[in-house]
Amino acid sequence: MPIRGMLRFADAVASFEDAQFVIVGVPFDKTTTYRSGTRFAPTAVRETSQTFEKENFEHGVTFADIPVHDAGDLFEEGTVDEMVASIEEEARRIVSARKFPIFIGGEHSISPPIVKALGEVSVITIDAHLDFRDEYQGLRNSHACAHRRIVDHVGKGNAFAFGVRSISGEEEVADALYADAFRVHREGCEKVFDDMLKKLSRRPVYLSLDIDGIDPSYAPGTGTPEPFGLTPWDVRHVINRLGDRMVGFDVVEVCPPYDNGNTSILAARMMREVMAVKWKSTHAKK
Ligand code: MN
Ligand code: MN
Repeated sequence: MPIRGMLRFADAVASFEDAQFVIVGVPFDKTTTYRSGTRFAPTAVRETSQTFEKENFEHGVTFADIPVHDAGDLFEEGTVDEMVASIEEEARRIVSARKFPIFIGGEHSISPPIVKALGEVSVITIDAHLDFRDEYQGLRNSHACAHRRIVDHVGKGNAFAFGVRSISGEEEVADALYADAFRVHREGCEKVFDDMLKKLSRRPVYLSLDIDGIDPSYAPGTGTPEPFGLTPWDVRHVINRLGDRMVGFDVVEVCPPYDNGNTSILAARMMREVMAVKWKSTHAKK
């Protein structure tokens, strides 16, 4: 018998009720400032996710055991503010069912409403950009304001940007916590990351991966590439170091029209890393 259905993220065969992890795509790129096309990312990431084995060799877990649900895409309706409101509503549906949300952007403006739904969390963004403008091109929900809007929700001292190497003079840098990529290269990811954790409050952590935080040589398919970035190993270190503390994740700013394929594969692999690490850490405790 042929199987009829939509393209799902690899191994995401659980129902919403049975799942620990719920994946949502948001093909939204209305506020993009340079190269557009992140709206194609949820489909590209789902396609490339099919390349991996079910077994995660390093962590000793298999996706045959990890219950993952793919809830499909949230489509753009109306204004940017309306989109942000519907993302918050969807995130609340997942969080109130005590499940771990994983969103695929879309651009970075999708992250603040997810954070809002999570309530009292700390947020780590991995990003080439500080994203700390109060508004950009007349929009407070622009992707260039993502970190600033996140601070509005969680408060100063509860959000940290990692791997930054692009800051505009319009940004009120004094109010932002961040570690720049040059320091990560100079002092090593492990030391700089540990320093960052000491500065953040001991809340659960939401991790937002703006794929342009990773160097364009690894992740060329993005709207605003910025040289001198982090390596995939650095991001992997962050995920593994956070472990059980993670309560949600997103990967944003993947732009398939500019990709050679590696960027969407990297995004899919980071989603799987988050799920494998979280699954291992929650089950090891029992
Ligand atoms: Mn960003
Ligand atoms: Mn960025």
